Amino acid sequence: MTTAPQVIEKVNLLNFDRKGLGEYFVSIGEPAYRASQVIQWIHQLGAKDFDIMTNISKTLRARMQELCEIKTPEVIFDRLSKDGTRKFLLKLSCGNSIETVYIPEDDRGTLCVSSQVGCSLNCTFCSTGTQGYNRNLNIAEIIGQVYVAHHLMATEEKPRPITNVVMMGMGEPLLNFDNVVAAMNLMQDDFAYGISKYRLTLSTAGVVPKIYELAKISDVALAISLHAPNDALRCELVPINKKYPIAELMAACKDYFKDAPRRHITMEYVMLKGVNDQPEHARQLIKLLSDINCKINLIPFNPFPGTRYQRSDRTTIDAFRDILMRAGLQTVTRKTRGDDIDAACGQLAGEFKDRTKRSAKLAAIAVTTKSKFTTPE
Ligand code: SAH
Repeated sequence: MTTAPQVIEKVNLLNFDRKGLGEYFVSIGEPAYRASQVIQWIHQLGAKDFDIMTNISKTLRARMQELCEIKTPEVIFDRLSKDGTRKFLLKLSCGNSIETVYIPEDDRGTLCVSSQVGCSLNCTFCSTGTQGYNRNLNIAEIIGQVYVAHHLMATEEKPRPITNVVMMGMGEPLLNFDNVVAAMNLMQDDFAYGISKYRLTLSTAGVVPKIYELAKISDVALAISLHAPNDALRCELVPINKKYPIAELMAACKDYFKDAPRRHITMEYVMLKGVNDQPEHARQLIKLLSDINCKINLIPFNPFPGTRYQRSDRTTIDAFRDILMRAGLQTVTRKTRGDDIDAACGQLAGEFKDRTKRSAKLAAIAVTTKSKFTTPE
């Protein structure tokens, strides 16, 4: 009987932060400090080939060649908005694709990174949510977004640096906790991208137990997708509120500051016409946030095909902001960027197989309840 030759699956070195890579080297009989050298070669110098790692012995290079690989997601689409925002569509090895967005501003360049293929949370105003969910991204696929964008833009005629990263792309980062934390470690690592903790933001719809866990091991800035000042409305917009209501979420936010008063929290609030944008909502928000040290980010709703919502008018958004500001809450209205290429908040969709079959179910509901969701022009 003949047996098929055994194919050894190579270890992707992009799948490790420095600690993890050190442990890997120890497991193959090498010192842990090799991790710093190799991380620098991969992330700072963009090495994809072990041969150029000249401060590493020839024997170890040959060994790595045999056992390891450096595999990044593949850019299949790179689109530039007229405002300079740039969207990368990245193909993953399983055939799914995800989106990453670069937003240049005068004083910074922010990369908006995805954490999952799709999202399981089903927030009713978010395009990603309505597409369904496929799976968590691994560390290589999360940090691979930074790698690809960084090295593409660094080699261009007018290089653009990534100074900030926001975990605000597709997915709920706290439901992919370990991989997101490891990827954020690499973002902050001086041997990799060296981004300061003040310039690294994780945005969550409110997975309360994981906020407590994050507070123990990380110092990054936190953004909370609040979007409503009371439980009834928040349950409608952000269904995870049924599991973790506002009072529990606010307690977790206060805990986040407990031992680290310099940590930043931003409350995100999408402005939906006639839904959550009335003066009464602003007054409820003031009460809710009176004892939390935070900033408020008002996000004009970005529409997508099939949505039942509309963006609040500019005057409504300004009036809402003024009420908050008069009460002493630091409030800014987020500029809408990249909407001409569907790269704005909540418009990221990628292309993937919905394993929850949610998109099909929603399409069926939309047909039977069309008149209910159609808002007059
Ligand atoms: N799951 C995480 C991160 C992804 S969403 C979270 O909920 O925070 C990133 C931000 O974009 C969130 O504040 C989200 O509420 C907002 N957003 C989603 N859909 C939007 C839309 N259609 N228009 C404007 N903002 C949207």
